[in-house]
Amino acid sequence: MKIFRTRAEVYNYLETLKLKGISVGYVPTMGALHQGHLSLIDAARKKADIVVCSIFVNPTQFNDKKDLENYPRPIEADIEKLKEANCDVLFLPEVDEMYNSSDEWHIELDHLDNILEGEIRPGHYQGVTQIVKKLFDIIRPDYAFFGQKDFQQFVVISYMVNKLNIKVQLIRCPIIREVDGLAMSSRNVYLSAEDRQNALSLIKALTKAKEDFNTLSISDVRKNAMDYLSKARGIKVEYFELFNARTFEPASSKENENIIALVAARVGSIRIIDNMIL
Ligand code: AMP
Repeated sequence: MKIFRTRAEVYNYLETLKLKGISVGYVPTMGALHQGHLSLIDAARKKADIVVCSIFVNPTQFNDKKDLENYPRPIEADIEKLKEANCDVLFLPEVDEMYNSSDEWHIELDHLDNILEGEIRPGHYQGVTQIVKKLFDIIRPDYAFFGQKDFQQFVVISYMVNKLNIKVQLIRCPIIREVDGLAMSSRNVYLSAEDRQNALSLIKALTKAKEDFNTLSISDVRKNAMDYLSKARGIKVEYFELFNARTFEPASSKENENIIALVAARVGSIRIIDNMIL
């Protein structure tokens, strides 16, 4: 696996390959890699000639300084995992390589950046779109792979790609879960044993919502889930919403809509998000 730390080096390397007609599949990450990330590498390997992964803990998408400081950075272990997964190229820049002091960014994101995650994490999706645009400009991938785990992020990036007419095909990959159902996440390592157990209430609420959806109205499905989560041990629910997965508006009817349930909660000091297509 080739490792590049500068934009110029990775850009030049990939441009040479592209001239030979080689297609590029790209997986952007913030590292602390787990099976969820590696499933994206696998998907990229199946679709493209070469697989590029980046690891960059992007400061502009963190609205909580402590969260940024504490974000896990086990870089040596990550490199080993990527080698094992047959990743071809790792782009591993420092913050100075990606940003300079004159950087400014604001993109109109319709209503998408001030609801759900955007409401709770102001500026988060401006930071996400800022770094993804920069990374897309450097890697210029044919395909880019993202997890359904961050469903709203996928919606936001799709919106940006359409709006700026970026030539990339976005591919959404399924959520990878632990055996007991907890969605894998880099932040899970910070859950205490007790919180780790309490966190299962999120997947339980989603699974129950999927069942309820067969017989109950949208508002009753949501109400049951909120009731359940507000009583669950060690959980502070932030939202549980049913949205139209295509328009990303609150779901209004069960017919002709692809509906997704999205949940966020604090478990101890850790924020956890999850979702499920109903
Ligand atoms: P992150 O390193 O958290 O920025 O995530 C990098 C990519 O991995 C994003 O596209 C995430 O949606 C995806 N991802 C994170 N967790 C999972 C998971 N459990 N299953 C599938 N994809 C995931």
